[in-house]
Amino acid sequence: MSGQNFIVPARSWDNIEQIAQGWRSKFGLDQTPYTPIMDMMERVLDNALNYFTLIPVEASEMGPAEGYTDPDGTCIMLREDVYRGAWAGEVRDRFTAAHELAHWAIHTKIPLARATAGQEVPAYRLSEPQANQFASELLMPARFFTILDTVHTVMDRHGVGYKAASNRLEYLNRKGKITV
Ligand SMILES: [Zn+2]
Repeated sequence: MSGQNFIVPARSWDNIEQIAQGWRSKFGLDQTPYTPIMDMMERVLDNALNYFTLIPVEASEMGPAEGYTDPDGTCIMLREDVYRGAWAGEVRDRFTAAHELAHWAIHTKIPLARATAGQEVPAYRLSEPQANQFASELLMPARFFTILDTVHTVMDRHGVGYKAASNRLEYLNRKGKITV
């Protein structure tokens, strides 16, 4: 999975939030706003637990994709510059890594149907919006947000880019999830 939308089993955004927060809890991150995404993926899920193999791939071999998750769940590939950037804390690369982990967590070992242009499929049945929502939940849990937040406080606290932070603030406000 790499940017191409697939039709996948429907998931509510609340369900995706629960799964992502479950992952954070397993890693002891309930009180920690910053998600160490590459430690999770490479040191723990790959090296320690052998859930999948994380593979940096040369840009020339990767084509237009920044990441790719094998539908059978055996490996996650990241373009080499994205892999290095994510380890270095580059915000966009961190989101890309989290997005691929999302595909691994909810889109492997399931039936996938390619979505074709012109087909009307709601976002909650498409792989890309689901993966982006999962990545947002993993990197920016609602519990850390307050009414004092701005795009910049969110960027600083969670290590995300402007667009991801502003989308997240807008989403949480719309859903009434920022209460304090
Ligand atoms: Zn994707």
